[in-house]
Amino acid sequence: MIITRFAPSPTGFLHIGNLRTAIFNFLATRKEGGEFILRLDDTDQSRSKKEFIDQIKEDLNWIGIFWDKEFSQSNRIKRYDFIKKELVEMGRVYECFETPTELDLKRKKLLNMGRPPVYDRASLKLSENEKEKLRSEKPSYWRFKLNNEVVEWKDSILGNQTINPSSVSDPVIVKADGQYLYTLASVVDDIDYGVTDIIRGSDHVTNTAVQIQIFEALSKSVPKFGHHSLLIDLDGKALSKRDGSLNLKNLKNSGIEPMAIVSLLVSLGSANVIELYKDFKDIFEIFDLSSLSKAPAKLNISSLKSLSQKAVQELPISEVEDYIFSIGVPKDLSRNFWDMAKENISTKNDMEELWKICKRDVQLDKTDPDYEFLQKAFSLLKDFYKESEPWKLWTEKVKKVSKRKGKELYLPLRYALTGSNSGPDMNKLLPIMLLNNLQIIE
Ligand code: GLU
Repeated sequence: MIITRFAPSPTGFLHIGNLRTAIFNFLATRKEGGEFILRLDDTDQSRSKKEFIDQIKEDLNWIGIFWDKEFSQSNRIKRYDFIKKELVEMGRVYECFETPTELDLKRKKLLNMGRPPVYDRASLKLSENEKEKLRSEKPSYWRFKLNNEVVEWKDSILGNQTINPSSVSDPVIVKADGQYLYTLASVVDDIDYGVTDIIRGSDHVTNTAVQIQIFEALSKSVPKFGHHSLLIDLDGKALSKRDGSLNLKNLKNSGIEPMAIVSLLVSLGSANVIELYKDFKDIFEIFDLSSLSKAPAKLNISSLKSLSQKAVQELPISEVEDYIFSIGVPKDLSRNFWDMAKENISTKNDMEELWKICKRDVQLDKTDPDYEFLQKAFSLLKDFYKESEPWKLWTEKVKKVSKRKGKELYLPLRYALTGSNSGPDMNKLLPIMLLNNLQIIE
């Protein structure tokens, strides 16, 4: 059985790039009926916040992603201590004493000599006595000792990968303040929870080489890895996590529909044309991790907006009713309102403006060159309040009386009613305005 996990760090809101990872894991799992786990990588207690955890969960649910199990790394520190001790006894984890400034100096020296800034394992060479002395002077931190064997794996997206660890520093697994870093903690979790497939962004490829060595040091089988490409903007720049407009909370507030986001994210970097899927179920069939492109995927916000527009326009009234009521539309008008509104909105939020139009009154202005025409026209309107096709019948009458036709006839009427030269189909809008007891003010 396939077991996957999505492992966000709750140090910020869920970003569209990270959501793509969640979607890929979720799809790969649900397609085969496996288990999908939400893991919160919250060992950084100073930056992890409950507010972010709650929002991440809310956002995932809003998107349509639900998980079978959930846990937080902060509750598993004892377990990490235990494994760390095991690795220390094996000689694969060692204590270090350099301060950040000392490490920085070492890095700069190597770079100046044109050498890769790989940690020199100075602490590994310390005697027990020397370590004892240093312990009394400053806090220590811990590194995993890489071996020199080239690490190879068959990546489900990138294909065969080979990484030579001699160009990589022994990774820090516990910081001087005692905080466990993700590198070890993640491997321990993946082992304990039986994770079979790790699907994550290609920024983790080097971590994978290191983590494979940790799995092997612990004599555990190595899960399958798949590294998907990262999202870039239209100029080819990496999407910044700091760009708040692309976090889920803001996309939701700006009225973007969840399935539009999902549809775009699954088609980016795949051979499939961008189309709107109504449900995750519709995506299972077309989703294939191995066919994803290795190249960075360009995120086009205008595609997102147009998919979202299509998504909202195709919603059944049952899915928009709550929103419609929330903006003040009474139950008996909701169907007529939705029938008119759906043709005129890009997002649900646009309905608020439309409802304002529905509640407008007509204010005639004596200085308007069309004043006389409008005054006459609106004096005729009272006979049509009860008609089922008031716009058609009323404008026919006004046409006869005024001898106007085409734009000359329709535009001033539309403008007086809506305050704009363009907008909803008047055949659908006027009945709602009349039911709202439209007043003509002179
Ligand atoms: N917390 C890590 C991240 O958000 C998890 C990476 C992984 O999936 O292993 O990048």
